[in-house]
Amino acid sequence: MTEKTLNPFEIVQLQVKKACDELGENEAVRKILSVPEKVMEVNIPVEMDNGTTRIFTGYRVQHNTSAGPTKGGIRFHPKVNKDEVKALATWMTFKCRVMDLPYGGAKGGVIVEPKELSIRELERLARGYAKSIAQIIGERVDIPAPDVNTNGQVMSWMVDEYSLLRGVGQTLPAVFTGKPVEFDGCLGRTEATGYGVAIIAREASKLKDLEMSGVRFAVQGFGNVGSHTAMYAEEMGAKVVAISDIDACLINEKGLDVKALMKYMKENRTISGYPKADEINRDEIFKQECDIFAPCALENAITTRNVEQIKADIIVEGANGPTTPEAENELLKRGVLIVPDILANAGGVTVSYFEWVQNLHNYYWSFEEVQEKQERKMVAAFKSVVEMMKAKNVDMRKAAYMIAIERLATPMRLRGWFKDGTYKRA
Ligand code: NAD
Repeated sequence: MTEKTLNPFEIVQLQVKKACDELGENEAVRKILSVPEKVMEVNIPVEMDNGTTRIFTGYRVQHNTSAGPTKGGIRFHPKVNKDEVKALATWMTFKCRVMDLPYGGAKGGVIVEPKELSIRELERLARGYAKSIAQIIGERVDIPAPDVNTNGQVMSWMVDEYSLLRGVGQTLPAVFTGKPVEFDGCLGRTEATGYGVAIIAREASKLKDLEMSGVRFAVQGFGNVGSHTAMYAEEMGAKVVAISDIDACLINEKGLDVKALMKYMKENRTISGYPKADEINRDEIFKQECDIFAPCALENAITTRNVEQIKADIIVEGANGPTTPEAENELLKRGVLIVPDILANAGGVTVSYFEWVQNLHNYYWSFEEVQEKQERKMVAAFKSVVEMMKAKNVDMRKAAYMIAIERLATPMRLRGWFKDGTYKRA
């Protein structure tokens, strides 16, 4: 069996179509959700350190504003292209709505290899991009955040630039989230995605009559998402028996000491060479005996090449798009529960939403408050997806899309974006 290569925008359109068909949604809903509302292309002149000028092309895509302002990260990467940004913006809409956040999706990107820029050039590019898209973003309009190769520092420059342009003497921190805690950021944001993945894994294990304490847990990827997923899973009682990164896979039947491995990783920038585990080839992670497998590295990790090796009963998608559709079909046939990315890794955008709320009120919550609110939101989202899954007898990914689409169709209908004869006079 060979995997079809669809571009990401085609994939997301297919997912929308499938979920709309299952719901019997009005054709207009599918049409509206198949395309973004706004696509902006910008060409940003940046003065390089040697005095020359380079032009960088970037995009900002806003997918759907029916439920509130749009939200989504900004990526700096040489492979950024318009279709990818459109697809990522669309996925953000579904992620926000499945979590019941009052947002639609957006995404931004600049075609650049940031490693080739000096720090000053990077700052000028960040400011230039913020200036170029300033007309279409705003704290009640579209709220960007970090994504691949951007971070709290980049957001801080963008807040500064935007505030200079629009603030008339004020700082407007709520226009960007993912800021450093010391500059109006939110406690718990760094841990949020992995913490969410672990919460969702715990909830999913109950569906399979497993107890989190004692489950064998394997994690692919040991970056921000993978390391925090493993850390919180261990705190919840799971035995983390295998962890991989780009260099190696570590196994320990008795359970790895995740915090010690995080310390080792910080010092060595790799998990390879960690002494208290057996080290094997990184792709052997797929073969490990475990109950829950959390792919937290990159897209297209679980494919037809390795799907037969997988032994887990539950897959919790920490990364975006880690399972190809063909591999997913195989796993579903075997009865594996796959918790989709738009639900499993939505902890990041959930805590970004909390950051925005705190910025708008200029009142800040404790770490515990943030985590407690995050947990409540994630458990509620998980429950509504499970209800849909059971009511319609569909897999969890489809159920998550169906929930999101219902939560989009209703405000669109109420706003009168399409007519389906349900309007009743008072
Ligand atoms: P990261 O760069 O911090 O970590 C990526 C990890 O994956 C690294 O440990 C790297 O060594 C490992 N890796 C790369 N290729 C691998 C391979 N072939 N086998 C095993 N390990 C491999 O990135 P991150 O922020 O942890 O993001 C990981 C994924 O989660 C991405 O898909 C990202 O889009 C998604 N995601 C991240 C967040 C967030 O808040 N950071 C939120 C939602 C989704």
